[in-house]
Amino acid sequence: MNIGRYGVVVCTKCGNAKGVDLGTKTTKCPHCRRRLIINKLTVFYRSDSQKNIAQVVGELNAKIRDAEMPDKKSNPPDAYTLALKESRSGSNERERLIIIGRVLSRELGSFDKKDLEIIISRRGTGEIEEIIDVLKKSDLFYEPKPGTFKAVET
Ligand SMILES: [Zn+2]
Repeated sequence: MNIGRYGVVVCTKCGNAKGVDLGTKTTKCPHCRRRLIINKLTVFYRSDSQKNIAQVVGELNAKIRDAEMPDKKSNPPDAYTLALKESRSGSNERERLIIIGRVLSRELGSFDKKDLEIIISRRGTGEIEEIIDVLKKSDLFYEPKPGTFKAVET
């Protein structure tokens, strides 16, 4: 049993580890803002060194994330992830955009500016108007209603 002024606890709400000063009564979780009453929590590690505490917090949070990974992996990739992944086979930007449009149509039924904005934010590149322009000019997409796009069945 180790003793020390600081301890490592795990938030009861979000499950993230955090270092606390065991001399205080409450602490606030930096991840979910929940107020935690320290003497009601399990202290996983104690030390007088804040550096040690920070290290243990980091290791524990990494372990918690790893433990959550299998779940995340078993979830099917979302439409945006698929669109971006498949678009890598396009040999130029126009082809890549068309693939993205097709995958979004296939996965979502149709897509609109909001979906393209998610794509742009994930890619970190692109202009919404330019993308729509490319899709419209390709003749491979139509607008079932204004602002909504769908790939032409081929
Ligand atoms: Zn929390």
